[in-house]
Amino acid sequence: MSEQTQFDVIVIGAGPAGYHAAIRAAQLGRKVACIDAALGKDGKPALGGTCLRVGCIPSKALLDSSRQFHNLQHLFGEHGITANDAKIDVGTMIGRKDKIVKQFTGGIEMLFKANKVKPYFGFATLHANRRVVVKQHDGSEVELSAANVILAAGSDSIELPFAKFDGETIVDNVGALDFTQVPKRLAVIGAGVIGLELGSVWKRLGAEVTILEAMPDFLAAADAEVARTAAREFKKQGLDIRLGAKVSAAEIIGKDQERQVRISFQDKFGEQSITVDKLLVAVGRRAATRGLLAEDSGVKLNERGQIEVDEHCHTGVDGVWAVGDCVRGPMLAHKGFEEGIAVAELIAGLPGHVNFDTIPWVIYTEPEIAWVGKTEQQLKDAGVPYKAGSFPFAANGRAVAMLEPAGFVKILAHAETDRVLGMHLVGANVSELVHEGVLTMEFSGSADDLARICHAHPSLSEVIHDAAMAVDKRAIHKAN
Ligand code: NAD
Repeated sequence: MSEQTQFDVIVIGAGPAGYHAAIRAAQLGRKVACIDAALGKDGKPALGGTCLRVGCIPSKALLDSSRQFHNLQHLFGEHGITANDAKIDVGTMIGRKDKIVKQFTGGIEMLFKANKVKPYFGFATLHANRRVVVKQHDGSEVELSAANVILAAGSDSIELPFAKFDGETIVDNVGALDFTQVPKRLAVIGAGVIGLELGSVWKRLGAEVTILEAMPDFLAAADAEVARTAAREFKKQGLDIRLGAKVSAAEIIGKDQERQVRISFQDKFGEQSITVDKLLVAVGRRAATRGLLAEDSGVKLNERGQIEVDEHCHTGVDGVWAVGDCVRGPMLAHKGFEEGIAVAELIAGLPGHVNFDTIPWVIYTEPEIAWVGKTEQQLKDAGVPYKAGSFPFAANGRAVAMLEPAGFVKILAHAETDRVLGMHLVGANVSELVHEGVLTMEFSGSADDLARICHAHPSLSEVIHDAAMAVDKRAIHKAN
């Protein structure tokens, strides 16, 4: 006999989109349950979704460890600091990462407690009339129902049919966060966000890294000038990125400690093959909807397998909403945060809303890459008249003092109104700097507004100030 429980709001999934929805709904006085099936590395339930367990947070921990190691070996000498025989203990590095993950997944549990969100640990399926059946980890079943259900089931890695994940030699992001030693040779399929970030981690620790990208253009979603600069910097670092590479096979050879992968691919030089110790497949993610929707739920999927929603994240089924990676739009944790909050507010009768035009993108490589708004190509394609102003980090005192002169900031503004339409950055700390662009665009600001805002000297943010001045060819620190 299953226990029956009634809530105002049930959230399926405690990742970025789900936990934001649950907490905001609880703040607004709703009785909320949030269900998640995931287990942590210790086999215990872990809230926080891909982002906290095996995505944003652990990858940033490893990016930071590997950056320190790389700088110790390659940059500190310029400061006059030498350390002989630098070593990295991979176990300690992974242990630090696991501790951070535990701190943050545990943090969500504490936030749920503080906000009186009732967690359920198990796999949930939505049935008709907002009935949710949860198969709990102890084998028991519980049936919940609510006036509103928010689906926030997230996404799974896409597997290639010829390169099945085995968790050891052929891995996705989860496996690549847990190598027990630095692989001598690592191949990555997909030069997207995960491929570049995790490829950078293991490259900095000493692996030979080859990235095989099917598309002929590098980082096609980014501004072309940003992508070119980033590609040049990655090449200098020794990341071997092969564009237009069509992988046809990945065959495991050897046994136990000797296991390797032989990868066959074709590019402009013809048929090729490389043999590596580990293969990371990072060719995108797809909505995680398997088992989520009973036949009578009424919720529809679109042609890409995502849950169909309108602009308010409503599925069309009375009281059923969907947010985050399992619906259309970029698969970014912060996009999920905003959708989760917006839906909780809509349920409470408030005007919840997400502005898709000002969602920032960040790739945490070295240098970092970030953007918000339209690229030059998008403006050209749409026939929008624009002016561009850019400024290099190499002419910024703070960046040079930090030994981080690579990259630039480019601001695109409407040719007639001067309204900022896009900001594109590659360089030091641009993951933080991009928010000047987000704020300006959110407030419909102009390049002149940015140019007239006093920026502290010396600071990296002055690059934005100079780029804004360059829009009208009045940058002080470069020839216009
Ligand atoms: P992605 O879409 O960023 O990149 C996948 C890349 O693989 C693309 O360049 C694509 O052309 C290439 N590709 C696809 N099939 C291929 C094939 N058969 N052979 C060679 N190349 C192929 O996807 P991802 O890197 O797997 O990341 C998944 C999602 O997670 C993305 O939506 C990303 O935005 C998100 N994510 C974001 C961050 C961040 O915000 N910093 C970090 C990690 C992941």
